[in-house]
Amino acid sequence: MTELERHTYDVVVIGAGGAGLRAAIEAREQGKRTAIVCKSLFGKAHTVMAEGGCAAAMGNANSNDNWQVHYRDTMRGGKFLNNWRMAELHAQEAPDRVWELETYGALFDRTPDGRISQRNFGGHTYPRLAHVGDRTGLELIRTLQQKIVSLQQEDFEATGDYEANLKVYAECTVTELLKDGDAISGAFGYWRESGRFILFDAPAVVLATGGVGKSFKVTSNSWEYTGDGHALAMRAGATLINMEFIQFHPTGMVWPPSVKGILVTESVRGDGGVLKNSEGKRFMFEYVPDVFREQYAETEDEADRWYKDPDNNRRPPELLPRDEVARAINSEVKAGRGTPHGGVFLDVSSRLPAEEITRRLPSMHHQFKELADVDITAEPMEVGPTCHYVMGGVEVDPDTASSVVPGLFAAGEVAGGMHGSNRLGGNSLSDLLVFGRRAGMGAAVYVDSLQERPKIDEADIDAAATEALAPFELEGGENPYSIHQELQQSMNDLVGIIRKEEEMEQALGRLAEFRGRIAKMTVEGHRQFNPGWHLALDLRNMLTVSECVAKAALRRQESRGGHTRDDYPGMNAEWRKKLLVCALDADGGVNVTEEQQIPMREDLLELFELDELKKYLTDEELPAK
Ligand code: FAD
Repeated sequence: MTELERHTYDVVVIGAGGAGLRAAIEAREQGKRTAIVCKSLFGKAHTVMAEGGCAAAMGNANSNDNWQVHYRDTMRGGKFLNNWRMAELHAQEAPDRVWELETYGALFDRTPDGRISQRNFGGHTYPRLAHVGDRTGLELIRTLQQKIVSLQQEDFEATGDYEANLKVYAECTVTELLKDGDAISGAFGYWRESGRFILFDAPAVVLATGGVGKSFKVTSNSWEYTGDGHALAMRAGATLINMEFIQFHPTGMVWPPSVKGILVTESVRGDGGVLKNSEGKRFMFEYVPDVFREQYAETEDEADRWYKDPDNNRRPPELLPRDEVARAINSEVKAGRGTPHGGVFLDVSSRLPAEEITRRLPSMHHQFKELADVDITAEPMEVGPTCHYVMGGVEVDPDTASSVVPGLFAAGEVAGGMHGSNRLGGNSLSDLLVFGRRAGMGAAVYVDSLQERPKIDEADIDAAATEALAPFELEGGENPYSIHQELQQSMNDLVGIIRKEEEMEQALGRLAEFRGRIAKMTVEGHRQFNPGWHLALDLRNMLTVSECVAKAALRRQESRGGHTRDDYPGMNAEWRKKLLVCALDADGGVNVTEEQQIPMREDLLELFELDELKKYLTDEELPAK
C-alpha cells in the first residue's frame, strides 16, 4: 500500500490562477469544503503575468458598447468557430465579474470622472479593457487571494480554524485523477519539495491548470504551462476540442536570445504604438484581409485620427486580431524586411511623450531596459511572434463547465470552445472570472446531486504511485531535458505559425519516437526537490498535448485563426461546421474525430449583417431572410 497523506474535500480545484481562485471562491460560497492545489507558489500563477487588461463591455469609454457588440467582436475574432453559448455568457457576464472584483478590493485605473477606465485592444470595436497600468493580472490575483483570506477569516470566526472550508496546497503537483466507475473520486499528486505523495478524496474536481506553451521553443509562457490539465482530463476519459488552434502573439521580444519569446503587451499598440519594417514602412496596411476590410483604416492619417475620434474613423490595422498581425510579421521577416535580430520594429517612442509611456506602460519600460538595454521612450523595440495561448482545451458544457466525465469540470485556459480559432486580447481574464465562477457553481450543484460519494480504489492509488516513480526505476536512459528541448524545437519548426502537411507528418514521426524515448527515460537522485523528476512527469503531458495539436492540425484542411496551412490558405465554410475532438485510445495514443458544431441560435445570428455571415457560414446555415 502506497504511503501518503490523505485529505477529504467536496471540491478540489487544481490551479490557483484567475480561473481556479474564482472557482474555489464560488464553491466555498456555495457551502462546499474546497481545496486549491497549485504546482507553483501561491500567487505565482500565469494570470499574474497578464498585462493589458480584462475585456468587459461596461461602456465607460464609449457608451455605444454593450454585450452584443462584445459578442460580435469575440465571434469575429474566433472566425465564427467559437462555442456561441460560451461567447454569449462571457459577453453578458464579464461586466458584473469586473464590478465584483472591486467589491473584493480591486482598484482599476479610472477615467477623469471616476469610472473604471477602459483601453483599446486588437479586434475590440470600443475601448473595453479594464486595467491597472500594464499589471492587471497582478491586481486580479491579489484581489482574489484577498477574498480567499477574508473567507478564511469568516471560517475562523465560525469554527476556530482558518482552513476549515478553504485550504491552499501550494507547490503540490497533481499527476493523476482517480475515478469510481465513470465518475471522479479524487486526485493524486506529490509535494514538489519533499516528493511525498498526497491524495485528495473528492467527488468533484475543477481543472484550472492553464495552457500548453512549454511544448514550443519560443513562448511567452512560464515553466508551469505544460498542459497538465489537458492531459489529466484525457487520461480520465474527457475530450479536448480545438487543439489545432494555437495563438502566436505577434509581439514577443526577439533579442537577446535568453529572453526570446517574453511578451510585449498589445497595450503598446492599443495606446498608439505602430509596427514598421526595416525600410521604415508601416506595413500592416498591406495585410488587411477581406473579411475585415470595412472596419480598418486604409491610410496612416485615418488610422492616426482614430485614436482621438474613433466614431468617425476606422481602426489602425495594427489592431487587427492577433493571428492576422502575427502572420503579417512572419511574412515581412521572410521577405527580408526584418530587423537585425529577425523581428520587426514596434515604435511607441515617436508616438507618445516619454512620461506618458512610462505612466501607461511601466512594466514594458522596465522589461526592455533591464533585459535588452533598450529605452522604449527613445527607440523602437524589436518584436516577433511567440507561442502565447491555446484556444483548445477540455470540451465543456457552457453553462456548468462540466466535461463528459461526471464530476470533472474545467475553466480558464484549460477549457476549450470560448475563443474559437483565435482569442481576442483581454478576453482571457474575463473568461477566467465568468467561467471560473460557473465551474465552482457547477461543481457545487453536482456534489449536491450525488446520492452516494464515489470511492477511491487502493489499487488505483498504487498504480498512480508506480507511474509517478517509473523514471527512477530505469538505469542508463536519457535525461528528460534533452528530450524536452527536441520536442520544443520540433513543435516550433514543424507545427508552428505556418503549417505544411509534410512537416506535420514529420512532426508526428518525431513525436512517436519521443514516446519511445520518454518511456525509457532515467532520472537521477531521489524524490526530494528534484527538478529532473518534475520535468519527466510533465513531459508525458507535453507529449500528449503535442500529439493532439499535430494530429488535429494535420486533419484540418483550411486556414483559420491560430491555424495557418500553407497548402490550404483560405477559410472553408464546411470546415467551420466541424470541431476536431481529441480523445485517448486504449494504448494511450491520441485519436481525432469530427463533431458537428451546434448551429447558432437565431436571435444571435440576427446580431450580424447577412453579408458578414456569408463570409463564414455555409448556405444552409444562413438565416432565411
Ligand atoms: P493560470 O493563471 O496559468 O493558472 C494555472 C494554475 O495551475 C497555476 O497555479 C499552476 O501552478 C497550476 N497547475 C498547473 N498544472 C498543475 C498540476 N499538475 N498540479 C497542480 N497545479 C497545477 N489575458 C488577458 O485577458 N489579458 C491580458 O492582458 C493578458 N496578458 C498576458 C500576458 C502574458 C505574459 C501571458 C503569458 C498571458 C497573458 N494573458 C492575458 C493570458 C492570460 O494571462 C492567461 O490565459 C490566463 O491567466 C490563464 O489563467 P488560468 O487561471 O487558466 O491559469
